[in-house]
Amino acid sequence: MGSPLSNIIEKKILRQERLSVEEGLFLLDDAPLLWLGRLASEERFRRFPQKEVTFVLDTNPNYTNVCETACQFCAFYRHSEDPDAYTLSVDEVMEKIDKAVQNGVTTVLLQGGHNDALPLDYYLSLVRETKKRFPTVTPHFFSASEIQMMSRVSGLSVIDVLRKLKEAGQTSLPGGGAEILSDRVRDKISPQKGGPSEWLSVHSAAHELGFLSTATMMYGHVEESEDVAEHWEAVRQLQDESKAKKMGGHFTAFVPWSFKPENTALERRFPRRAGTIPYLRMIAASRLYLDNIDHIQASWFSEGKKVGQTALQFGADDFGGTLFEENVHAEAGFVNTTTPSEVITLIHEAGFDAVQRTTDYQRIKTNQRSDSGSSIGPLTGAGDMPIRKNTATPIDFVSM
Ligand code: SF4
Repeated sequence: MGSPLSNIIEKKILRQERLSVEEGLFLLDDAPLLWLGRLASEERFRRFPQKEVTFVLDTNPNYTNVCETACQFCAFYRHSEDPDAYTLSVDEVMEKIDKAVQNGVTTVLLQGGHNDALPLDYYLSLVRETKKRFPTVTPHFFSASEIQMMSRVSGLSVIDVLRKLKEAGQTSLPGGGAEILSDRVRDKISPQKGGPSEWLSVHSAAHELGFLSTATMMYGHVEESEDVAEHWEAVRQLQDESKAKKMGGHFTAFVPWSFKPENTALERRFPRRAGTIPYLRMIAASRLYLDNIDHIQASWFSEGKKVGQTALQFGADDFGGTLFEENVHAEAGFVNTTTPSEVITLIHEAGFDAVQRTTDYQRIKTNQRSDSGSSIGPLTGAGDMPIRKNTATPIDFVSM
């Protein structure tokens, strides 16, 4: 390959040495795309030699759309007096989960707005009832800013809120609300939400208690490449710290997706979605830079099915979830649906066996490609359910 930096990076990756910020910026901005994809794919196969891609049967219901935080990129939230504002009872949330479980769902990613009318007991009941009524489901509930909200409303510290959630049965936290972990960016797009340090402190506390969590990124708006590098660096450092503590908690996966502008306050300034090439570059560069995070997730949902398939050749090893229900992107006019059997077919078409997994990446069932000599088996407990419609904007909490 050509430039001195690309030669240095290639040697570092071969020797499994950590990349610098400068090298990360080169990957994002200047590296030849196909070279980058090849290097990321080689690194992916070094970690996961089998020609397999994982996916999860999941659903993303929301318990409330009431939120006074007014993030510039969000089309989902409503003020409490708006006619279409809603807050579901615990039983109403359980009805949604019940329907999803009947379709084989094993992960429920439950999130909502910052609604200060809800007491801590409401959230604890959501976890307890889910664990009691649906023992096969992992409650992957509440983003970092919702945990902060619970802390403010209850007067408890963040770690005490997390302790109570853990006592109720929760052990997994979604990475939503990270957006870009740069004060410069957060001040512009979500000034009332709490900065990067708040998001990082919640995940750090969760890891200390043994929670697994994911790290996300929503790019394609006001950020510069340096902000992306700052985000990567913050996530990589926290992962180092969490693993060093040996409490069991850490990030399982990194999940980037692009901002969807429709129906958001940011739309006038950023009317266009980031394209395919920046997404593939993001996936590949993240695989190489985030050397201490196992899984890089491709998104059929946020970027489109063909782009999701292509990302599997750029270092991603996971195809995300089936999203039985999703409302956040839908509010931004972005709708994409699939079925479990289509997810399996998409993974097979890309040349991989499709492995159904749990929230924490334990294998449930392998669906081999027909050309690999085995028949494709049915999903565990799953029908060919239609997966949700996506119509609206992306909030940062479509995260897995
Ligand atoms: S992204 Fe979350 S915190 Fe921000 S306005 Fe939307 S619902 Fe509220």
